[in-house]
Amino acid sequence: CGVFGIYAPGEDVAKLAYFGLYALQHRGQESAGIATFEGEKVHLHKNMGLVSQVFNESILDKLSGNIAIGHTRYSTTGSSRKRNAQPALVETRLGKVALAHNGNLVNTMQLRSELLKDNCNLVTSTDSEMIALAIAQEIKAGAEWLESCIRAFHRCSGAFSLVIGTANGIMGARDPNGIRPLVIGTLGNNPVRYVLASETCGLDIIGAEYLRDVEPGELVWITEEGLASFHWSQQPQRKLCIFEMIYFARPDSVMHDESLYSYRMRLGRRLAEESPVDADIVFGVPDSGIPAAIGFSQSSGIPYVEGLIKNRYVGRTFIQPTQSMRETGIRMKLNPLKDVLYGKRVVIVDDSIVRGTTSRKLVKALYEAGALEVHMRISSPPVTHPCFYGIDTDSQDQLIAATKSVEDIAKQLEVDSLAYLSWQGMVEATREDPQSFCTACFTGDYPISIPEQVKRSKLM
Ligand code: 5GP
Ligand code: SF4
Ligand code: MG
Repeated sequence: CGVFGIYAPGEDVAKLAYFGLYALQHRGQESAGIATFEGEKVHLHKNMGLVSQVFNESILDKLSGNIAIGHTRYSTTGSSRKRNAQPALVETRLGKVALAHNGNLVNTMQLRSELLKDNCNLVTSTDSEMIALAIAQEIKAGAEWLESCIRAFHRCSGAFSLVIGTANGIMGARDPNGIRPLVIGTLGNNPVRYVLASETCGLDIIGAEYLRDVEPGELVWITEEGLASFHWSQQPQRKLCIFEMIYFARPDSVMHDESLYSYRMRLGRRLAEESPVDADIVFGVPDSGIPAAIGFSQSSGIPYVEGLIKNRYVGRTFIQPTQSMRETGIRMKLNPLKDVLYGKRVVIVDDSIVRGTTSRKLVKALYEAGALEVHMRISSPPVTHPCFYGIDTDSQDQLIAATKSVEDIAKQLEVDSLAYLSWQGMVEATREDPQSFCTACFTGDYPISIPEQVKRSKLM
């Protein structure tokens, strides 16, 4: 999911939130929503669809106020339907709270029963609503805003990057492992106005300047007095989802002081060094495989071309929730360039293989277009384990690499050769401490323990 928050008295916050969400659209395409606070009054609009489908000028005009919270949804818990759209809005003793969540909790069953014991009215089926209700529950028990949020966070286990709106200001918070990203930006300097966004591309689009990340286990509270920071977790331990860097986040977003485009090019260079091949041309699977393909070309000297053209108006096939939608999606999306491919030995680079459905179809299309040899190179290691922290990589039995060796996958995809980047190569290319990432979908080494019951739902 994509989350966005803005505290900017005097600005058209709804419009700024709209543009912020527009830039974060790749993080979720099922539903979108914005809540604004005008004093104690809250305006909320959310619906199924893309940001551009959910909002128009007249809707945005009605969302007045000084504060806005926004969300684009990609469903992991709770089905894809309107009432599960965010922000979640909950009534508390201290006034309304709007909450937008990116990530996935792993202890929802426990949290749910705690909430039900207290007669909380669970309207939706999302873990995100449960966080908002847990905050309301703590407020009911007598605590003030800050304390209530922190108490509620301690009851949550899993991945959560949150943007929370109240009449007085906005909060940004990350779980103790900082699995999902969240950045702070400033807009103008007199007075300073603050913006929160999942990625820096959500700041760029409104001309906000990147200030810093919200730290793992940190809560920032932005009010008319400025920004206050609270380190609420006793054991913060950085475990950023490495899939954000490899695939999920936009290439122009900055993490660790460089664009993900640069990181992904480095993955491609490393891949070429680890698994060279004799070929005539190299290209990436648009869009996510392109930076790594360019890196592969730079390092190998094999000319970079475009072998597949993407219809820019078809969304990410992976994010649509059903298999049948996925299967029709892919044919709509990519078209091979026959005259470029004809008679060539080609290297096709992609960022990952999950189920293998995209890859198999693509390889077939390349041969049909006249490619002589097809060598597939993947800029991450085999995905062998499901994600429980908010990326929809499905259950383990759906993952092609969970049961098959690289050799068997190559046979199934009918490629002349197949190679994946090593785990070492992937983490070394970050130039950060390898321990500061979650890489569980490649290793099965989950940084946040997963209750048995939840494990059984996705693991073989
Ligand atoms: P497959 O056909 O192997 O299931 O899908 C792999 C392709 O889906 C890659 O091109 C990758 O860019 C794309 N993809 C889309 N969403 C995701 C995701 O959430 N995780 C991963 N690993 N790949 C995804
Ligand atoms: Fe990211 Fe994989 Fe960890 Fe999930 S399991 S948070 S996709 S690295
Ligand atoms: Mg892709």
